[in-house]
Amino acid sequence: MRLYNTLTRQREDFAPADGTTVRMYACGLTVYARGHIGNFRTFISLDVLRRTLKYVAGFQVKQVVNFTDVDDKTIAGAQREGLPLAEYTERYIAAFHEDCATLGLEPSEENPRATDPGNIQAMGDMVAALEQKGHTYRSDGSIYFKIASMPTYGRLARLDHEGMQAGAGARVDADEYEKEDARDFVLWKATKPGEPTWDPGIGPGRPGWHIECSAMALRLLGEAPIDLHAGGIDLVFPHHENEIAQSECATGKTFARMWVHFEHLLVENQKMSKSLGNFFTIPDVIGKGYRASTLRYLLLSAHYRSRLNFTWSGMAQAEEAIRRWTDFLARLDAVTGSASHPEVAERVATARQGFDTAMADDLNTSAALGEVFELVRALNSQIDAGTVGQGDVAGIRAAFAHFDDVIGVVSLRAKEDASGGLSEADVERYITDRQEARRRRDFAAADRIRQELLALGVILEDGPHGTRWKRK
Ligand code: AMP
Ligand code: ZN
Repeated sequence: MRLYNTLTRQREDFAPADGTTVRMYACGLTVYARGHIGNFRTFISLDVLRRTLKYVAGFQVKQVVNFTDVDDKTIAGAQREGLPLAEYTERYIAAFHEDCATLGLEPSEENPRATDPGNIQAMGDMVAALEQKGHTYRSDGSIYFKIASMPTYGRLARLDHEGMQAGAGARVDADEYEKEDARDFVLWKATKPGEPTWDPGIGPGRPGWHIECSAMALRLLGEAPIDLHAGGIDLVFPHHENEIAQSECATGKTFARMWVHFEHLLVENQKMSKSLGNFFTIPDVIGKGYRASTLRYLLLSAHYRSRLNFTWSGMAQAEEAIRRWTDFLARLDAVTGSASHPEVAERVATARQGFDTAMADDLNTSAALGEVFELVRALNSQIDAGTVGQGDVAGIRAAFAHFDDVIGVVSLRAKEDASGGLSEADVERYITDRQEARRRRDFAAADRIRQELLALGVILEDGPHGTRWKRK
């Protein structure tokens, strides 16, 4: 298994240190809003990484994905709405779990919240260790990390030395800032009126964003180094640089052996983000009549290290690809004759090998999907030629089940179908039938179709420009 390590800017062989279980951490959602599909490009990429480690490389995985439930943004949001912080973040945590299930993400082993008392204590202990080793100073009740105390600071983000020297000695209190502003960053923020506060033995205050992840990763995954740390590409600086500084100075050990970063989802060539307001949530996409499985396919079909521009035509192409896959599986039901053919088994084995090789090569999903669809094409021609028999079908199905263990789209589609979710095309067919009924003035039939759709969760609205529809 090879992965691109941001730390070395190279593809490297990867296996867990103990040869069995990958101990991995990924930065989770800041719960001040429902996650958008850009956030979920990152979490879907993470899911594909997890599934490849399990089903292709054969490792076990212990995955920790946190909730940032206390930081500048969550506090500001809770204050705006006049709610206690935990009550405010709870609904976005619930929405996250709902969206993950909708997208067919395998659950993480742990989803810690930064504000869990055990985690706050671990943050306090880490800050105390850093103080004791001379990496910190206090000012106005806050505790800062002194970047000049760590000669290797800036290695992940490849900070230029001059910029860093300019920054050393000056402080930054915000959780987010630019690379050009490398500064001594805040570990523990002094209590402010109206803000939540804790005292895990280092004085009253609340954690900075970066210390949260360092403390939770090591508390839940055990001794440094952990095997793998992942997150969106925007987290390289300052977040991950600072996580490394805190963890390595506190423990004296390497923090993570492998750093994986996922590229952004764009809209009209700009990063999809809450602050730009150019985002869709999962319910937005479903409300427009698309299925979550289609979105999952689109978001994983591009390589995780290239940017992806989100378009509705991309969604239509993704839907077409899923149909080709599921239509082929349906066609297997109709195969007759009991014969089996060694050349079919061989063709299937070659595709399976090609798929695994592509996924093990830094998660090359587009090449892996290429193998799947070439196999579909080849087997469709063989079925046409009558050279596929019942004896071949179990082997073919097993290979496609393996592909989908990793891709996770066809099983999700099956779940959507079982739960009565109609596809967009299904709805359009109903609407066409209803229009025909109305044209022949069979209003009873037209009404029946409307009622039927309503029972299936689809509402029709007749207007001057025809019939529009939405889901209940
Ligand atoms: P946040 O809630 O901002 O802390 O983000 C949660 C995760 O989503 C982080 O790993 C971010 O890097 C990632 N992320 C944010 N915006 C995007 C985007 N447009 N495309 C892909 N990942 C993103
Ligand atoms: Zn983090």
